[in-house]
Amino acid sequence: VLLAYDPVRRLARVQVGLERSLVNARMIYEILDIEPRQADSIGAVPITVQSGEVQFDNVTFSYGNGVPVLHGISFTAEAGKTTAIIGASGAGKSTLIGLVQRFYDINGGRILVDGQDIAYVSKRSLRQQIAYVSQQPYLFEGTIADNIRYGRPDATDEDIIEAAKLANADEFIRQQPQSYGTEVGENGVTLSGGQRQRLSIARAIVRNASILLLDEATSALDNESEKRVQQALEHVMQGRTTIVIAHRLSTIVNADHIVVMEAGRVVEEGVHETLLARPNGVYARFYQLQGKEESPIIDDSEEVSHR
Ligand code: ADP
Ligand code: MG
Repeated sequence: VLLAYDPVRRLARVQVGLERSLVNARMIYEILDIEPRQADSIGAVPITVQSGEVQFDNVTFSYGNGVPVLHGISFTAEAGKTTAIIGASGAGKSTLIGLVQRFYDINGGRILVDGQDIAYVSKRSLRQQIAYVSQQPYLFEGTIADNIRYGRPDATDEDIIEAAKLANADEFIRQQPQSYGTEVGENGVTLSGGQRQRLSIARAIVRNASILLLDEATSALDNESEKRVQQALEHVMQGRTTIVIAHRLSTIVNADHIVVMEAGRVVEEGVHETLLARPNGVYARFYQLQGKEESPIIDDSEEVSHR
């Protein structure tokens, strides 16, 4: 039996903690269905998602300062498939997956989910369809079970164990002093980077959303840990529309579709073989320069913080 879960008490505690540690908005939305900061547009309706196709249609965006960040982005992340976004640091990759979650409103164009313009749906209903796994997974004060359950507050203990198993986390969880009831966070046990990533993947699995946004970790894990995280990711990606900011060659090569960004523009897209065959292609150049081994390529910067 896992610890009893009191969502209201937990949420209250979490929000206090968040304010104190100034965790950014994306981290909060990664996990909690809290009320979005900006109100919905008048007449916003809940989104109806069947397969979870995500389409960017000529999307233009700048942050408040007026500097254009995305210039006419168009591409489609097909339902149930994996679309890898690659490009140098600052190209706009994180911005792009932030916009799918409507952290900001776009300045031009449309983002459609299953044909519905997300500008006109309620943010809460949209975010319920999305699971987000960030580069640096955040753990809240509370037990391991709680940390997985943030993905879906009504998840049963069985759901949580099942998700942990799929995320390759069940084994190390059971080795903790109180198993699933072990406290993590400041006053709890310390977990390794790979273990935290697998907990965050378990959280995404239990969320059971049709759209998965994934910012692939760049921090080095040892080989064993790396393999376990990769397997966990393969499970969570299964059958979902995945948009992954890809840093690892294997993720890119195996993606159903690759979108190459440069300075806020899509400069190439296609599958690995097609892109590789393009004479003087951006992708082909990157691949030849640094794509020879199983190492992070292209953008190995740490996450840019979105204030
Ligand atoms: P990537 O993820 O490809 O490294 P980002 O989407 O993080 O790129 O950033 C794209 C551009 O937007 C960069 O020039 C970055 O400095 C800028 N940027 C990112 N976040 C903000 C923000 N919150 N406010 C203003 N500019 C930002
Ligand atoms: Mg980024």
